[in-house]
Amino acid sequence: MAEQRTGLPARADVFRLADAGRRFAGDLAQADLGRLAGLLAGKEGTLAYRLDFHRDAEGRAVARLRLDGQLDLVCQRCMGAMPWTLAVETELAFFTHEVEIGEAETHYEPVILEEESVSLKDLIEEEILLALPQVAMHAADACEASKLIEALAEDETPREDDRPFAALAALKRKDTQNSD
Ligand SMILES: [Zn+2]
Repeated sequence: MAEQRTGLPARADVFRLADAGRRFAGDLAQADLGRLAGLLAGKEGTLAYRLDFHRDAEGRAVARLRLDGQLDLVCQRCMGAMPWTLAVETELAFFTHEVEIGEAETHYEPVILEEESVSLKDLIEEEILLALPQVAMHAADACEASKLIEALAEDETPREDDRPFAALAALKRKDTQNSD
């Protein structure tokens, strides 16, 4: 089992990990999360993971997953970095066929595996994707785009020497003249 620098095996058979009661814990840098690259800004974020495998009383292969950390998402309004705190605690149950899930769905988050061996980092990335906000956006008062819009609006506030009605009156006069 080749260990990557993330402390996670590149690929592993989750059923055997459950048999053996294997536990994994460590840190992932934002740069390690390749599948999320397009959704993240910068490279500063890190998160701590814990993944504990075991067999439950019914013999299901399950894993308790905890993720805690902070990632930098891309704000969809100003495209700037938006620090986002991630806290996930879930229990995954692994199956090779959908029909095996049965009542497991009420206690666990079922994961159907197409292959026996999976990348544990892929599993973690999948859970992060599920936890992400649908649209990442700063609070209005913290967003650069909102500040810009506010600044523009202030710019358009009429000054004392503006006489919009004078202009309108001139326009009306012209109209009257034309219809004559
Ligand atoms: Zn923003």
